[in-house]
Amino acid sequence: MLPDKVQLCCLPTPLHKLEMLSDDPALDLWIKRDDLTGFAGGGNKGRKLEYLMAEALSVGATAIVTNGSLQSNFVRQLGAACARYGIACAAAVMHAPFDAEFGPPQGPKLRADNGNVLLDELLGVDLRVCEDAPWEDLWAQAELLAQEYERRGYIVYRVPVGGSSPLGAYAFLKAAEEIDQRFDAVVVCCSSGSTHAGLAYAFHGTPTRVLGIAADPEEELFDDLVRLTAGLDLITGEGKRLRREDFDLRFDWVGPGYGVITDEGMDAIRTMARQEGVFLDPVYSAKAFAGLQALVAKGELGGRVLFWHTGGVPSLAALP
Ligand SMILES: *Cc1c(COP(=O)(O)O)cnc(C)c1O
Repeated sequence: MLPDKVQLCCLPTPLHKLEMLSDDPALDLWIKRDDLTGFAGGGNKGRKLEYLMAEALSVGATAIVTNGSLQSNFVRQLGAACARYGIACAAAVMHAPFDAEFGPPQGPKLRADNGNVLLDELLGVDLRVCEDAPWEDLWAQAELLAQEYERRGYIVYRVPVGGSSPLGAYAFLKAAEEIDQRFDAVVVCCSSGSTHAGLAYAFHGTPTRVLGIAADPEEELFDDLVRLTAGLDLITGEGKRLRREDFDLRFDWVGPGYGVITDEGMDAIRTMARQEGVFLDPVYSAKAFAGLQALVAKGELGGRVLFWHTGGVPSLAALP
């Protein structure tokens, strides 16, 4: 049985050419406007939440517990979805969670106020701010928070970071159906993985290559992509069995680490704003677009290219 969904977003999102940025004759550049999903400030998480909320409601959840960075776009959109269904929303967050292997990265980061934090407060999200530590510690804190809610009598639905369960990936398998033209490549930011996983699954075996630009430095992202697409096989029954080699994921534009604002990213934000009047966000879409531009400049990418804008615009208000 295919997953149920609730309706939160205004779909399909617009798909249009980036006229000013397509002046290179070797490039026909388009954009998928998932910054305009139309729910609680937009962004890619709205699509995932349509499926995650349906599952939460089906199990009778009275609280949803998740985790993320303090300026998480997912926590903001989850908070809004919970508000709509009268479900309590709690999130364990860290200002700058990091990858254990790499340690805390140096460099400018988003502020600890304004942006999504301000919106979370307006939405009534129970934000539990923990001291910065590796992501695994954050997941442990989220589990403690879920248990606290259970002790208080709530029926808790747990959602992994970024809403990246197979259901979250399924939302992007469905999103790919909105693409009714042929593209040589789709370029998208990849962090918790379900956006890239769903799109890679959808276009697997077609002439369209899906290229992920990572916002996190960890190679384990490949394992997440394999796991999420294996979950999609269970949902769809299609048996595509995607392997590590089936994913094209680049780590060259992460910079010093997750959440660190890079010069290339800031340049990408200004380019997109000044040439197309479209806002990117500093943590995800700016790094992805910087990667797209660099790959075009190197001749590794060309033809009809679709940049999948994943949103995150509210965090611009938290630039330092
Ligand atoms: C979460 C997020 C991403 C990454 O999507 P994943 O499915 O977590 O890989 C990209 N861009 C923005 C703006 C996001 O909020």
